[in-house]
Amino acid sequence: MEKTLVMKFGGTSMGDADAIRQSATIVRNAKNQWSRVAVVVSAMSGVTDMLLEGAYAAADNRIADYNEITEQIQQKHLRAVAELLKTSQEKDHVQKVNTELIHEVLTLCNAIQILNELSPRGLDLISSLGETMSVQLLAAHLRETGCKAEAVHSKDLIRTDSVFQSAYPDLDATRELCRAELEPLFEDKIIPVITGFIGSNEEGIITTLGRGGSDFSAAIIGSALNADEVWIWTDVDGIMTTDPRLVPEAFTLETVTYREISELSYFGAKVLHPKTIRPVIERGIALWVKNTFNPQGPATQVIDNHAIPKGSIRAVTAIKTQCMVTIEGRGMIGVQGIAGRAFNAVARTNTSVSLISQASSEQSICFTIPSGASDEVLASLEKEFQAELARRDIDHIWIMDNVVIVTAVGVGMRHTPGVAGRIFSALGEAGINIIAIAQGSSEVSISLVVEGADADESIVKIHQLIINTGAQ
Ligand code: ADP
Ligand code: ASP
Ligand code: MG
Repeated sequence: MEKTLVMKFGGTSMGDADAIRQSATIVRNAKNQWSRVAVVVSAMSGVTDMLLEGAYAAADNRIADYNEITEQIQQKHLRAVAELLKTSQEKDHVQKVNTELIHEVLTLCNAIQILNELSPRGLDLISSLGETMSVQLLAAHLRETGCKAEAVHSKDLIRTDSVFQSAYPDLDATRELCRAELEPLFEDKIIPVITGFIGSNEEGIITTLGRGGSDFSAAIIGSALNADEVWIWTDVDGIMTTDPRLVPEAFTLETVTYREISELSYFGAKVLHPKTIRPVIERGIALWVKNTFNPQGPATQVIDNHAIPKGSIRAVTAIKTQCMVTIEGRGMIGVQGIAGRAFNAVARTNTSVSLISQASSEQSICFTIPSGASDEVLASLEKEFQAELARRDIDHIWIMDNVVIVTAVGVGMRHTPGVAGRIFSALGEAGINIIAIAQGSSEVSISLVVEGADADESIVKIHQLIINTGAQ
């Protein structure tokens, strides 16, 4: 049986000519050890944001702004071509393809501006162009450095539903497409360099898997190809005890269980897209997170849940710019269906709830949502509970803005009494007020809501507990 490896390189690993060179070295080394290597790449860092900004500028009739943004995207790719590629044949080829794609960005922005309409479908089409350009660079550089490589558009590989901006794959259809498209390349010893983030629906219309979705693409393709391993290459040493940008003492976790990484990525640790885990667990594929810029350094393997690592709290993470909604009233006690109606009212605004906490007296329900959605959610709840508010069964529905959810994660927590107590004392000693608490019934995580201003210190204090107990 031939061994298959799927590797994904994130935005920083594709950030400039040096980074792409480094990523290519990793690909060439892997090719020496694995018979089949598929590569999935993100857009160059910042490009997806720029494309979206361009689309919003167009919808806002800011013509000069989107022209300027398009120019910046073009310059970034031109610079990379000039610094990375050596032969005129590859230079001309990439220049030609990318110039056409930039032209497409501009045409789309012009269309958005003229129609004064920006749909999720339009956003997916425009934001997909970053990956469509970046694959060209890596594939051309690999060819120049002695590897057979070909840029592949994942609209021909990943079949999704039509939920634009957060599409979900049809894994069976995707498996067939991946095999049909990629097997012939593998047979010819060609490395496919595949666009991350993008799929297409049944009608062939471009969809995206959500921000940060290239990790998910790698997992989907890994599962479709029955890969032996999936390696996610990023700009830090694997999955760490917390975001190293925030706490320099953060250290790499050698192993993280599927449960822990699901909680971590759900509660804000951007290092791995939350949906990545499922397709790989289902097939028992080994998943690694590694640092492109320190390939021999520490890395993390995501393992199954049976092997419980040492240490109770293993990592801490945060979701910022949230607000907390509280529905409160004595008339709510024992009344059935309030929570259900409340969450339906929120769902109607297309807002997702990150955390829910309900006092057992049923006098209040509180939950958090992204700050930007607060006005719409409040209006929807007030409408839903108009009668209860009038009767004073519900006294009020109020929103506390600028809160942060800080979450401590660790599968060992459930076997360690007093973890919550230690967290509360650590924060209490620092004078940090905890606004709400929620614990998953599996006890893999404890989440606390604190004021925005207390977020960083809360993370540092909880991280200190991890250092003290020496989790690894
Ligand atoms: P990529 O572009 O490679 O997908 P991302 O920016 O999406 O990279 O994710 C990597 C970033 O995740 C790191 O630079 C780091 O700042 C952040 N991060 C947040 N929490 C963690 C954590 N617990 N461990 C490692 N990195 C984390
Ligand atoms: N380029 C996409 C984004 O910035 C997908 C990814 O990088 O994973 O969200
Ligand atoms: Mg990412």
